This record gives sequence, C-alpha cells and structure tokens, in this order.
Amino acid sequence: MNNLFSLLLCAGLFLMVGSSYRGNDLFQVISSHPHDVEELSPYVETVHQSGRLWIVQLKKNAPDSVLSHLRTLSGREKNYLYEGLYVTNKSRKANRVSIQSFTRAVDLQNIQTDVEELAAYETRYVGTLENQQALEKSAARLQGMGYKIQEICYREICSLIAERKGLVNPESVIMIMGHIDSVGEAFAGADDNASGTAVLLEMARVLKDYQNQKTIRFFITNGEEVGLVGSTHYARRLQDTQELKKIKLVINMDMVGYNSNGLVEIETNPEFDELARWLADLASKFTSLKTKITLGAWGSDHLPFLNRGVPALLTIEDWDTKNPCYHQECDTADKINYEYAGEIAKLNISAVIAKDLDQ
Ligand SMILES: [Zn+2]
Repeated sequence: MNNLFSLLLCAGLFLMVGSSYRGNDLFQVISSHPHDVEELSPYVETVHQSGRLWIVQLKKNAPDSVLSHLRTLSGREKNYLYEGLYVTNKSRKANRVSIQSFTRAVDLQNIQTDVEELAAYETRYVGTLENQQALEKSAARLQGMGYKIQEICYREICSLIAERKGLVNPESVIMIMGHIDSVGEAFAGADDNASGTAVLLEMARVLKDYQNQKTIRFFITNGEEVGLVGSTHYARRLQDTQELKKIKLVINMDMVGYNSNGLVEIETNPEFDELARWLADLASKFTSLKTKITLGAWGSDHLPFLNRGVPALLTIEDWDTKNPCYHQECDTADKINYEYAGEIAKLNISAVIAKDLDQ
C-alpha cells in the first residue's frame, strides 16, 4: 500500500512542478527581449555570455513561459563549445568544468605577496641558505594545497615536484614549471624569476580543487641561472626511465612580471608551432593578452624538454620591451605589473584545463 502511495505522490509532485527542471542541462538563451530576460533571470545561472552567445543552467524549476526562451544544447554542441566554455566528461557525468570559473579565481594579491616575499631574500642564488628556504616554503605551500611533494636533487641543487594524479588518465602528464633561483648573490630577482614562481603557486592554488583527468605536475626548478641544471637533470632522468613520452604539454614561465604593452611572447621550436598557436588562441579567449610567437627556443628550462622532443612552450614577457633591470640589482618587486602576471596565470590555467580535457 505504502509504495503505491509514495509512487503516486512522487508522480503528482512531478506533474505539479512540470518536467521542466533539468538541473544539469545546458541551455542557450534565444531571446534578448528585456521582458524575457527579466522573466528568466531568477531561474538561470549564467555559464558563459559573450556577444549573442548566452549559455545558462537552470537554478530551479521554471515555468514553460521561461523555457520558451531557452534552447537545450545537444551533447555534440556541448563538446563543440568546450573550447570556449564547457565540456561533458562521459566517465564523470556530474563533472562539468568551466574554464572561466577557474581563470576568474586568479587573485592578484596572492601573486604580489609571493613576489614580494621571494624578492625580500638577500639572494636566491643556487646553493645559498635563502635559496633552500624559499624552496622549502614553496614545498610547504604546495603540500598544504594537497599536492604530493618530491624533491629532485642533482648534486647539491634541489628542485621541487608537486603533483596530483589524474583521475581518468594518470599516465598523461601536464607540467607547469618556473625557476626559483636568482642570478648573482647580491639580490633576489623579482621579475627573474620570483614572478614565474609566484604565478605557478597561484595556478596551483586555483587548480587545487579541479578534478583533473590527466596528471598535473608543478615543477619548481633550481639552478636555471647556472646552466639549466634542475630541468636538464629531470629531463634526462625521465628519458632514462622512459617517462618522457607521458608528458603531453610543458609550459615554462620565466620573467612574466614586467610589461606595459600587454604582449606575451610564446616561444618554442618550429615543430611545435601549432601548439604555440593553440595557446595564442586560448589567450584571445580567456585573457586580455596579445601574443607573439617565436620559433627558436633558447635560454631557459623548456629547452632540455624541447631537445628531447617533448611539446614545450615558454611564456615570457615581450622581449623587445623586457625589464631594463634584467639580471640587475634593480630587478625589484615595485616594478612588477601584477595585472599582467595575473593574465599569464589565467592563460596557463586555461591551457592546463583545455589540455586536460583534450581526448
Ligand atoms: Zn630566468
């Protein structure tokens, strides 16, 4: 008796609120009429809006009059749109990710605090106590965010890996890196490369709750200024253990803090030109940055990976207008453009997620 009653009750309820509420569906708003917009706004949550494309999700049950202003997106459309917005992961139906909800979480104050802290050391020259302290502090931060920490040392020079295994495809790795050491013993470079380290830490913070399909690996390298020591050692080690092929994308951030024209240089070798254009395309979608692609990599940690055929990119401040205090004592935190550094963070966060969702 009871089962039949509760069944009827549910059916009644269902009929009462209408079959219109489908919480996980995506809809395109197909009206811009002020009256319609006013009517539907209380029922929807915006997922993305640019130009005529307005994608929403239902917050609660909506009357048919509201539904008449919405068009359900098909699975294919969702996949088609994912580049700019959304994706549906078959194995984790409930898991929907919006790249923009992550890029929007970038906090410039965090980047500034970390740059100022890293630049406040006497030096971060490799082998110094301060260098070790800066690395240990970063390790504690990343561990606190839930990443698995590992120190990779070559002789006395230790670099840091912070990783979270992928839930679906742990054998594929996306790696973000930047060097923590500074050149010379008289100062601790703010732009080179406290800026890259600080952006890496902010990316790790923003992505700490992201449900990654592939493995995400943050690599704070050391000894870059004395011959790419940490990155060369790690690339060689991965080669020896046949793990290089697991790496699907490397993004290196070196000097991402000084700029006035909003231009980021994307550097790689000619065989990865298409990858550089893919990143430039993401920049146009998710940041205010303009891009310049340079083919012919040199002078930083992406090189040991490129030389071993790994798809690697460098994102660096526009070199034509680079920091006039490059490798000098005047490379201080007061000259850093944190808005710009924040846009670099957004760019590389969008790249991690887009690459992660790439089939
Ligand atoms: Zn550097």
